[in-house]
Amino acid sequence: MKEKTDVLVIGACTAGLYFAGLMAQKGFRVLVCDRSSTADLGCRYDIIHIGEEYFSQFGLPKPGPGDEDYVETFHKSILVSALNNYPKNNSVDILVLRRVPFMRRLTDWARSCGAEVSLETEFVEPLFDETGKLCGALLRKDGAKLRVKARLTVDASGIDAAVRVKLPNNYGVENFVTGPRDQFYVVLRYVTLKNPTEDKPQFTKTWPYYKTWIAPQQDADGAILGIGANLSFDYAQRCWERFCAKGFLPEHEVQYIEQSSTPYRRPPYSFVADGFIALGDAACVTNPWSGEGVPYAWFLCSIAAEEFAEVMKNGVYPTQTAAWAINTRYQRSQGAEFAQNLAMLSGAVDCSPKENDYEFAHSIIFEDEHEKGKHNFILGILKGVLFGGISVKSLMNLVKAASTGGKILKHYRSFPENPSDFGGWTAKANVLWAGAGSMTDLAERDSV
Ligand SMILES: Cc1cc2nc3c(=O)[nH]c(=O)nc-3n(C[C@H](O)[C@H](O)[C@H](O)COP(=O)(O)OP(=O)(O)OC[C@H]3O[C@@H](n4cnc5c(N)ncnc54)[C@H](O)[C@@H]3O)c2cc1C
Repeated sequence: MKEKTDVLVIGACTAGLYFAGLMAQKGFRVLVCDRSSTADLGCRYDIIHIGEEYFSQFGLPKPGPGDEDYVETFHKSILVSALNNYPKNNSVDILVLRRVPFMRRLTDWARSCGAEVSLETEFVEPLFDETGKLCGALLRKDGAKLRVKARLTVDASGIDAAVRVKLPNNYGVENFVTGPRDQFYVVLRYVTLKNPTEDKPQFTKTWPYYKTWIAPQQDADGAILGIGANLSFDYAQRCWERFCAKGFLPEHEVQYIEQSSTPYRRPPYSFVADGFIALGDAACVTNPWSGEGVPYAWFLCSIAAEEFAEVMKNGVYPTQTAAWAINTRYQRSQGAEFAQNLAMLSGAVDCSPKENDYEFAHSIIFEDEHEKGKHNFILGILKGVLFGGISVKSLMNLVKAASTGGKILKHYRSFPENPSDFGGWTAKANVLWAGAGSMTDLAERDSV
C-alpha cells in the first residue's frame, strides 16, 4: 500500500470508488481504503435502485442482463394518494441491482482507472502537518498502523463521516455528527407474493403520505415492501403497522427484513476545507423526497473531480479557497433544490389522508408527467380551501412551507463565489433553517 499519495479516499462504496476512479483517470495517484472485506463491501442491504440514465451521464459501466449485479430494469414509477387513488405516472428506466456485486463492479472500474483499492483497511485518525493543515490519515491494516500522506483526504465513509467528525472545530467544514434525529430509518421487507401472477410489481408504487412503497426484487415471485420514517426504527414499525391495516398491499409472506438508515438533514454548508472534501452520505447529499443518495453523490463527485484536477495540478496542495468553486457549483444547483425540498417537506405532508387524496385528485404538489407545469399550486390550494378539500390549518402549513422553501432556494442559488462572503451567507442560512419545519418533530408529535 502506498505511504504517499495525491488522494486518499476513506470509504470504498458508491461515492468513494466513483471519485477515486475519476481522479485516477485524471492522472493522480489515488488510494482508496475501506474497513470491509471483498465479501461484505456494500452489504448494508441487498437491492439498490439506480436510474439507467446516470450510468452514461457519469461515465460508469452499466450492468445488464447476465451480469451478477443485474436483476432487472423497470420503466415506470407511480405515486398514489393516502387513499390509494389517482396514480401519478413517471416514465423512467430504473435498474434493480444487487449491492455487493455492484460494489465489486465499481471496485474493478476504479482499479481499471488506476486507483489502488485497499480493503480491510481502517481509518483511525486524520494527520496534520506542522502548520495545522490536513495531510493524510493514520490507517490500520492487519493490526498494524500506517501513516499515509496525501494532498487531499476524502471522507466517503458514509453516515458516520469518520474523518469529518474528527476535524477540529473551525477547520472549515462543519464536524457535526449525523445523529438519531437527523436520519431516515428505512426498513425493507423482502417478501414472497401469494398471487405473483396478479400482484408481481412491474414498477415501483409509492404512497408518499405513508412513505411506503412496493418494488420489484430478484425473486420472480417476490417484491420489496419498503417504509422510511424519521425519528427511529420503532416509529417506522408503528407507521408500517398503521399502513398495513389499510389493506393496500397484496397478500405476502416475509422472507427476510433489512434495516438501515440514511442522512436526513442539510449538508454542511462547505464540503471542502484545506486538503479535505466530504462526499456521499458523509456529506449528507441525499434526496429529501426519497432518501436515495447514489446518483446525487455522483453529481457532487463529478464537480469535485473537475475542480480538484485543476487545483491540484503540478503538485499543489488544495486549499479551501482554491477548491471553493465545488461549493458554489453544487450549492447553487442540486444543493439549492434539495435544500428547498427539505425545508418544505414537513409542511407539505402535514395534512390528513383525505386532504392528501384531494391534493392528488387536483394535482396539487403531486403531478402526473403529462400534467407538469399545467397546474397553479396557489390556485389549487385556494380552491381546495374554498370547496372544503383542504383545511385552513393545512393551507397555512403549505403556504409557510412554500414560503420558507422559496427563500432557502433563493439563498442557496446565491451561494457566495468567494469564501470571504461565506460568513454573512452562513448567518442568514442559519436563520432560514431555524424557521423551517422538521420531519422528526412531526414524527415525534405523531408518536405521542
Ligand atoms: C435501506 C436503504 C435503501 C436505500 N436504497 C437506495 C436506492 O435504491 N438508491 C439510491 O440511490 N440510494 C439508496 N439509499 C441511499 C444510499 O444507500 C446511500 O446514499 C449510499 O449508499 C451512500 O454511499 P456512500 O458511498 O456515501 O456511503 P456508504 O455506502 O455508507 O459506504 C461507506 C463505506 O465507508 C466504509 N467506512 C466507514 N467507516 C470507515 C472507517 N473508519 N475506515 C474505513 N472504511 C470505513 C464503510 O465500510 C463503507 O463501505 C438507500 C439507503 C438505505 C438505508
